[in-house]
Amino acid sequence: MENVVIIGSGCAGWTAALYAARANLNPLLLTGAQPGGLLTTTSIVENYPGFPEGIDGTELMMRMQKQAERFGTRTEYGVNITRVDFSQSPFKLWADDELIECRTVIIAAGASHRHLGVKGEDLLERKGVTYCATCDGALPMFRNQPLVVVGGGDSACEEATYLTHFGSRIYLVHRRDTLRASKIMAERTLANPKIEPVWDSVVEEIHDVKQDKVTGVRIRNVNTGATRDLDCVGVFVAIGHMPSTGIFKGQVAMDADGYLLCKNGTYTSVPGVFGAGDCADRTYRQAVTAAGSGCAAAIDVERYLAKIGS
Ligand code: NAP
Repeated sequence: MENVVIIGSGCAGWTAALYAARANLNPLLLTGAQPGGLLTTTSIVENYPGFPEGIDGTELMMRMQKQAERFGTRTEYGVNITRVDFSQSPFKLWADDELIECRTVIIAAGASHRHLGVKGEDLLERKGVTYCATCDGALPMFRNQPLVVVGGGDSACEEATYLTHFGSRIYLVHRRDTLRASKIMAERTLANPKIEPVWDSVVEEIHDVKQDKVTGVRIRNVNTGATRDLDCVGVFVAIGHMPSTGIFKGQVAMDADGYLLCKNGTYTSVPGVFGAGDCADRTYRQAVTAAGSGCAAAIDVERYLAKIGS
């Protein structure tokens, strides 16, 4: 019987683990399919306090893990949770064939990349379509070639800027005529001579499934309806994220998009189940706010266990 199982290994998960471990709760953390979470797909993190020069996203996550493990967090990698039952205590989690029973759960499962849902996207994934410039941008196939980034947020700006090191020209296709990104990111992006914004436009189709590789995109101007083809060998989709909460559906309350609904801090609709990080936050979604909510979740767990007298 576990005191607390933490699901997810992003900023929220590791911070929850650190606090739970220091509260002598002997936490078990399940990393999920992407150890370190979304920050491992970013490059330099410039807005995490305490790192005035910035810090590599993966490095930051490795440091958080080390700190959480130093105080006794047990980490299980690659465990694939297929089903949960939160209808009564102890809670049950099925990880492949293994059953884990626990008094409390912190869901810090994070978020995954949103897809465009256009023709060609799925069939050309990893054949030029990608959701992570820092993971794939340096591949030889993208060198000195035109590339398309889709989106207008911080991720799209960051990816476009990063890709200027590899591509010949970076088209930033955005559905409006102003970027959603933070001012500093937007200004840096638009000042880069290798980046060409394509405003008021959406990608309608990615070519060319027949050739089994990306050769271009068809874009449509949302104001005029005019379409045109843009040659490129890579399409980097950076249009936000979806909470990774599918397996908790029907077990805890969530909104229509799957974000956990938490009250009084990190309490979900099920007493003993707590939510932290991007999967419970549609407003801030920053590394530091995720870490903060992970801390809050661990404190809520500690107080909850004290109250029920574990
Ligand atoms: P985001 O802020 O939600 O931006 C998503 C962008 O994609 C928006 O510009 C949106 O357009 C566009 N979009 C959404 N759905 C679309 C669709 N179906 N077709 C075309 N375009 C679509 O997501 P994000 O950039 O991934 O950032 C998420 C959070 O992480 C934010 O809070 C951000 O500040 C943070 N972040 C921070 C950093 C950093 O500070 N270093 C880096 C990356 C991310 P509209 O603008 O029209 O809605």
